[in-house]
Amino acid sequence: MTGLVIVGHGTRSAAGVDQFAALVERVRRRGDVGDVEGGFIELSRPPLTDAVGALVARGHRALVALPLVLTAAGHGKGDIPAAMAREQERHPGLTYRYGRPLGPHPLVHDALEQRIDAALAAPDRADAPLTGADRAGTWVALIGRGSTDPDANAEVAKVARLLWEGRGYAGVEPGFVSLAQPSVPAVLERLRRLGARRIVVAPYFLFAGVLPDRIVAQSAEFAAAHPDLDMRVAEVIGDCDALADLVRERHAEALGGDIRMNCDTCAYRVLMPGFADKVGRPQRPHDHPDDPVGHHHHHGHDHGHHHDHGSVAVVGGGPGPDDLITVRGKALLEAADVVVVDRLAPQGLLAGLRPDVLVVDAAKVPRGPSMAQEAINAALVSHARAGRRVVRLKGGDPYVFGRGHEEVLACAAAGVPVTVVPGVSSAFAAPALAGVPVTHRGVAHDVTVVSGHLPPGHPDSLVDWVALARARGTVVLLMAVDTIAKIAAVLIEHGRAPQTPVLAVQDAGLPDQRSVPARLDEIGALAAREGVGPPAVFVLGPVVDLTTTGPRT
Ligand code: SAH
Repeated sequence: MTGLVIVGHGTRSAAGVDQFAALVERVRRRGDVGDVEGGFIELSRPPLTDAVGALVARGHRALVALPLVLTAAGHGKGDIPAAMAREQERHPGLTYRYGRPLGPHPLVHDALEQRIDAALAAPDRADAPLTGADRAGTWVALIGRGSTDPDANAEVAKVARLLWEGRGYAGVEPGFVSLAQPSVPAVLERLRRLGARRIVVAPYFLFAGVLPDRIVAQSAEFAAAHPDLDMRVAEVIGDCDALADLVRERHAEALGGDIRMNCDTCAYRVLMPGFADKVGRPQRPHDHPDDPVGHHHHHGHDHGHHHDHGSVAVVGGGPGPDDLITVRGKALLEAADVVVVDRLAPQGLLAGLRPDVLVVDAAKVPRGPSMAQEAINAALVSHARAGRRVVRLKGGDPYVFGRGHEEVLACAAAGVPVTVVPGVSSAFAAPALAGVPVTHRGVAHDVTVVSGHLPPGHPDSLVDWVALARARGTVVLLMAVDTIAKIAAVLIEHGRAPQTPVLAVQDAGLPDQRSVPARLDEIGALAAREGVGPPAVFVLGPVVDLTTTGPRT
């Protein structure tokens, strides 16, 4: 027997919590969906974990989880699946099928129509109550929550259109009370300019809450500024039979495995203009105040969207140790199907991957002569096209001499969703780990990160070595083990003092980390004599004199 858990987001409004509870009770009383509990992922009681716990205690190991949301935005797409994943960890063996958001649906549109008619029927400022016959002179502003997810906002626009079709209103325009445009005042002004004399503001909300209250307040303000308008605000949808019917329908759909997410315009999957940071982003549970494990940090989970679509995340792994990767990078790594890894990326992180993850050593990607980067790009694209979540794990930051942007461009050109996760660059981390601050008040107000890959004078070099020699601040050289002697000579020739302090830092952050201090005029010879080898950075300038001697220097 499958239990049903109805999942709400939670609200600071007591009325909203009561309406949610009343709906859960209505569904339960009908007795046609079996065992039912309701819970919230945030703010309100009972927390989801209690609802799931009650169903588990009554013997359920398979659940339908129904997000009680009108549109699939962050809550429906990410937060609720993440909270359910936490319940699965808590109750090993627990499985669940995830239901679709409620709208758009004719039952919702009919309920909205009834709320609008009720607002017309209320005398308000008109002398006689109005009826459906007065719809031709009525404009509707349908106000959704508003989201940073354009797909969710588009759903509200769709509902506005469907509400207008065949119902005889002069027009229905969508607007949003938070995060998206047009705002409530903006959509009301739009209607006024279209010639509206009578406007019903219809909140596209299930239950009472802070945002519906704000819609009422903003509408009242607009009405006060425009006394010639007949302005009314409809009730929220609220606990009603139509919603209970819809819950039953979504429950049956989930049991039948017939769940259709709106994947084509999903910002977590597709690069939408302005929303690049969402692609492939893992989701994490909200913290419920009553959930005892709700406050510790939890590893990332797939967003529960269960797409089969591939993506690439170009992740900066930091300078070498396992724990200098970002939280976001780590979460993506844990969700990856394929990891394409560089030699300088933190190798220790690979040990923690699931056994089924394919690890591809980028140095060994099959290729023709000197085709390394093209071959890597092609591998990223082909794994993603095969539907896999690919992490391209790089050392340091992907965009600091990492060729990361070439990979991003290749994915974008191939239409593969791609995102970048910045990393801690060795350019700053290696000096820091060796006790050198790359800037310091009163000592250095600039720091320049330079590739020493090509020596001064090389025809392809883009570095202005003379300017660097004249500058006063800190210089950090990467990939300069073979060129340091020449670089030091040119810097001295054009103005840096021969006694400028330099520190070579090799294997920063790793057990073999070591530092070799020298003057600029002796660093070439000394580094060679001491056998300084890659990976190493050279940091030079007055800040080097500030070096603190830590356990590793
Ligand atoms: N994207 C990387 C740099 C790639 S270029 C980053 O942001 O760190 C490779 C160079 O980085 C090496 O030649 C070396 O100069 C430097 N490097 C990388 N890891 C290092 C480490 N653990 N210690 C010292 N230098 C390191």
